[in-house]
Amino acid sequence: MNINNNFLRLQQNYLFTEVVNRAKAFAKAHPNNQLIRLGVGDVTRPLPPVIINAMHRAVDEEADSRTFRGYGPEQGYAFLRNAIIHNDYEPLGIQFTPDEIFISDGAGSDLGNLSDILGTDNRIAIQDPVYPAYIDTNVMAGRTGYFHDGRWSDIIYLPCTAENGFCPDLPKEHADIIWLCYPNNPTGTALTREQLQRWVRYAQEKQSLIIFDSAYEAFIQNDNIPHSIYETEGAKEVAIEIRSYSKTAGFTGIRCGYTVVPKELYGRNNQGGKTSLNTLWTRRQCTKYNGTSYISQRAAEAIYTEQGKQETRANIQYYMQNARLIRRQLQTAGYEVYGGEHAPYIWLRTPGNMSSWDFFDLLLNRCEVVATPGVGFGPSGENYLRLTAFGTHEDTQEALQRIKERL
Ligand SMILES: *Cc1c(COP(=O)(O)O)cnc(C)c1O
Repeated sequence: MNINNNFLRLQQNYLFTEVVNRAKAFAKAHPNNQLIRLGVGDVTRPLPPVIINAMHRAVDEEADSRTFRGYGPEQGYAFLRNAIIHNDYEPLGIQFTPDEIFISDGAGSDLGNLSDILGTDNRIAIQDPVYPAYIDTNVMAGRTGYFHDGRWSDIIYLPCTAENGFCPDLPKEHADIIWLCYPNNPTGTALTREQLQRWVRYAQEKQSLIIFDSAYEAFIQNDNIPHSIYETEGAKEVAIEIRSYSKTAGFTGIRCGYTVVPKELYGRNNQGGKTSLNTLWTRRQCTKYNGTSYISQRAAEAIYTEQGKQETRANIQYYMQNARLIRRQLQTAGYEVYGGEHAPYIWLRTPGNMSSWDFFDLLLNRCEVVATPGVGFGPSGENYLRLTAFGTHEDTQEALQRIKERL
């Protein structure tokens, strides 16, 4: 039997392993120092009571033969798909039918699973720096060519730097599939509606597909920033949107999200004809995915109650208060900082053109603060560093105090 050799081409996930290793080594050498971790992108606030109560009720239903639920619909329960349509899209003036919404066990799965219905011969364009999963799933699918000097030969890299305001320029080469993530991880920056519209127009002209990851949509703080790609004209014909309750509502451990595949979206088949992506994705899900847990879907439904909205918003405001604090204090201390206004990440330019890893080490050794080196997210992340706002207020404040005093 032969293996899928694409897996052997994957680069070691050097970034997070190396961050953990260096932090561990430091902790071992300095057992009395207290490390503050502002590196990983995971939430820390507990789930709001309204969500916990919904899960308790769902568990009790499973304990009674009259209310027990076995396999659910592969696309997700109607109660959740309707709640999504009424709460996430109708207020924006966007209409969907339930069969365009696919409940998932999180964005991570669908980001990779979408590969199943897309040809391997597509030219892909990916933001640089980027959430590493976009690259790796395409490596597994055999779309990325060979790796040389930190880059894949068949990826069109879309540099996002301070110089272009973290909004990538349209590629000169033809891109069939474009991956966009806004508000962005790792840079913490957002796009305006006009900036996003340019990408949708490009995709319309080139007949490309945009895979739009809006995992941080709930962190948007004003109406100039689009919550959904479908707020732009023509997006239903060119875009799949992926959302997650992980950061929105603290579901990183519960697992639930959704993917929108509009019926207007078509791809070319090998006869040159048009094929509906919604039909293909439905078929794929019915064969390979037996649905998200009932308990998780009831938990997600509770996010859309009045109480759920209030309680999840309070957690987001907690993180965004950290983000503002980090931004302001670092700016005052003379650092060049980006992001953190509509996302829980702050993207910091290293002082004096120091490399990402050198600055990471300096922060670790002098301040006992663990960050994430920007270069780990792609070549254009060099000379940047990511800090997250997912810590506690106390830790965040203490970390900033140390940075101001010791650097
Ligand atoms: C955290 C995150 C996700 C969410 O993944 P889940 O599988 O839903 O937990 C998706 N995209 C980005 C960019 C993220 O940072």
